[in-house]
Amino acid sequence: MLNRAKAENIQNWIEKINTYNSTPEFGTTRVLFTEPEIAAREYVKDEMRKLGLAVREDSIGNIFGTLVGNNPELAPVWTGSHIDTVLNAGMFDGMAGVVGGMEALRLIKESGVNFDRSIEVIVYTSEEPTRFGLCCLGSRAMAGHLTLEDTKKLEDKDGKTLESVLKELGYNLNKFEDIPVKKGEVFAAVELHVEQNNKLEKKGLPVGIVKTICAPTNFTVEVTGCQSHAGGTSMEDRRDAYAASCEIALILEDLALKCSSEYNTATVGRVEVIPNAVNVIPGKVRFSIDIRDCEFETKVELIEELKKEIRKIEDKRGVQVKLINENNDIPMKCDATILNILRNSCEDKGIPYDVMISGAYHDSMFVGEFTPVAMVFVPSKNGISHSPEEWTDFKDIALGVDVLAKSLLELANKKEL
Ligand SMILES: [Zn+2]
Repeated sequence: MLNRAKAENIQNWIEKINTYNSTPEFGTTRVLFTEPEIAAREYVKDEMRKLGLAVREDSIGNIFGTLVGNNPELAPVWTGSHIDTVLNAGMFDGMAGVVGGMEALRLIKESGVNFDRSIEVIVYTSEEPTRFGLCCLGSRAMAGHLTLEDTKKLEDKDGKTLESVLKELGYNLNKFEDIPVKKGEVFAAVELHVEQNNKLEKKGLPVGIVKTICAPTNFTVEVTGCQSHAGGTSMEDRRDAYAASCEIALILEDLALKCSSEYNTATVGRVEVIPNAVNVIPGKVRFSIDIRDCEFETKVELIEELKKEIRKIEDKRGVQVKLINENNDIPMKCDATILNILRNSCEDKGIPYDVMISGAYHDSMFVGEFTPVAMVFVPSKNGISHSPEEWTDFKDIALGVDVLAKSLLELANKKEL
């Protein structure tokens, strides 16, 4: 029925997209609505048209390439990912899923097989938070969590708002309210993505089927102690905000290591020490906490445990700790029927696979709020991503596309899930 995906098509597309890059001297940088990103968008739209897809864009720049089914009134099946990057990134994160979707649609079209529902490949706007500090702008707006009002508040480092950038580029903000997708308007969505971990590589498997996408809970922590002279203040008299912060970080690490859930992580990634001087005991420290888990309950338990430990540290060290909760997101459980379809597609094509958890979040986390989702992973060499070292073999992406194409076709002919 379907031919096998061509690794060389995938390679050509990825390498061409990679030429749209503002840091060719070190990795790939393609930040939302900068010159290279806009050029990459135009290139992808052109390639979609060459494949015979109908191309449209919504008011926040989500791009849709549609392969029209026999019954276009039915809710479509979606695939796709993103083409923006973090700073000095690689050429696969996001792009594998966009060109993988294009290759899947090419195979389906070439086969001449009949299918009912239209199948669409989507380029979601700005999955990475690089420019406006908020991730998944496109899919977030689709899920109804980013309004036109919000775009007026989101500023880049130059003080430009997302609203003004969209306006400048000619997006029709009067239609912003049309972006949110209601339940039932999309039948199902499957995103192909690089794994960003080394589990597939360790097992020597080309494909992963994602059953859960971990969701982050983020805190800003403010520890207040007493700023004082590093030499003049005896050890027993200090209220060192930094030492207290370190203790919190170590307890967090320990709680995460001991956590009973199948996959979880905890990270202190940003630390600000005040006044940050060699001869002064830090009086204040601000730091970030990022906790992710595949189960919401175990995440909540870990946070409760952490709060108890923090109270003990406050007493012991004479510091005050303020925990500011930024977000507390619920992990996305992928749809059981789509997972079965993906499993069967792997078995049918003789492609070995594993069922796994995604520690990183993806657009599918938001898309999953309005339609059943699942994801297909392909291996990341040494588990590295968000780095110029990022690598996935094109032939592995092609195997992922074989699974994707077969599954999309099956979904496009399904009456219900
Ligand atoms: Zn990504």
